[in-house]
Amino acid sequence: MSTTLEVPPSATEKKVDQTEAGNYFVSNYPPFSFWQPDQVSVVEAILQTPAPAEVPLGVYFHIPFCRKRCHFCYFKVYTDKNAQEVKAYIDAGMREMERFAKQPYLSGRKAHFVYFGGGTPSYLSVPQLKDLTNRMKDLVSWDGAAEVAFEAEPGTLSETKLTGIREVGVTRLSLGVENFDDHILETNGRAHRSGEIDKAYRFARTLGFEHINIDLISGMMNETEANWKDTVAKAVQLGPDAVTIYQMEVPYNTTMYQQMKAEGKVTAPVADWQTKRDWVSYAFDEFVKAGYTVTSAYTVVKDPQRIKFVYRDALWEGADLLSCGVASFGHLGGVHYQNQADVGPYMQALDAGQMPIYRAYQTDAEERFVREFILKLKLGHSSFDYYQNKFQQSPRQFFAPQLEYLAKEGFATLTNHDITLTRDGLLQVDRLLHDFFLPKHRQYARYT
Ligand code: SF4
Repeated sequence: MSTTLEVPPSATEKKVDQTEAGNYFVSNYPPFSFWQPDQVSVVEAILQTPAPAEVPLGVYFHIPFCRKRCHFCYFKVYTDKNAQEVKAYIDAGMREMERFAKQPYLSGRKAHFVYFGGGTPSYLSVPQLKDLTNRMKDLVSWDGAAEVAFEAEPGTLSETKLTGIREVGVTRLSLGVENFDDHILETNGRAHRSGEIDKAYRFARTLGFEHINIDLISGMMNETEANWKDTVAKAVQLGPDAVTIYQMEVPYNTTMYQQMKAEGKVTAPVADWQTKRDWVSYAFDEFVKAGYTVTSAYTVVKDPQRIKFVYRDALWEGADLLSCGVASFGHLGGVHYQNQADVGPYMQALDAGQMPIYRAYQTDAEERFVREFILKLKLGHSSFDYYQNKFQQSPRQFFAPQLEYLAKEGFATLTNHDITLTRDGLLQVDRLLHDFFLPKHRQYARYT
């Protein structure tokens, strides 16, 4: 590796300070833009191989319905579907899961974790939810699953709904709170209001969920420092088991970006990156004062011995993920895949007796090593021996220029055995991770 600059750092730094349109968050590797329709047959081939003995299996089901579209949302969501259409979608999803579950690679395996994501899983009525989960359990057993996680929008959570969610076996309830100020919730297109958060949270607590998480976003439109401090204080007061804090970004397929484009603006109407990082840092400090521990670039946890993020940790370590539903992302036997992103083609493929997979990517051993190192660096610490033992490859040598850059800039402390990100490094880890991509997957980099 040389240290040739492909772009001047000043250009890079300038570009990332103001919030401009684009995705900075690294959720998987290699990047989705490298996944290709011509690799779908590789998923089908994997499914014909025998089930592996030791790889944990997760099951994901995607619910693409929401009451309203948030201005910052980049998911494909539907806000106008009636009960009959929701039922047709669930029927299609269960046909998909049945096809998967019968294949040799998945046959007889039990779920280590289950995840309901969206969209808004809590948009489903209790009868729809019971129908869905009973059918899922018949196809892939949840007996002994370490975690059943469920994303919920506070405004959808009546007492009956919460009771139903608990009864189907959910252990981790994730509330999309985002902010406690009604004006900010409204300006950003959220469907819920602050009164619904408190009501839902307090009733959920009485039902015995093992883990209640709330999501917050730093830097929503119209956010001010005073309001952010108030939001953090209210979150501390609520006292959830864990809090996940994202920094607002504005991907291209959001209504916020459409508005920017129409007005000819380059900079999004949200705080710049340094302000968003400062606000997350303030929140981390306040939660630490209240007894929480910072466990990653986005999370604080009240009791890290008891509260785990099973789905996240298993996926980052290469677990299989049987993923069903429109636009969902899965991973089987080292192959990433994503389903058709629109309900029409998704349902048509299933009606025609085909898998609704749109694109896939076969990873090799080096990419799996890079993937795990990148994703786990978001936890703020990595021990190099772990990778030497698992991949026969030491990050200390493989990523020498990148690691030394982080140490030189004060983003990390580095030894020959491990790396620990500083708070400053942790809060911009997604930006820094792009330098760790293999050269063939980089748009730009400080090092080649
Ligand atoms: S609730 Fe979530 S998935 Fe639904 S529109 Fe808002 S951000 Fe998107």
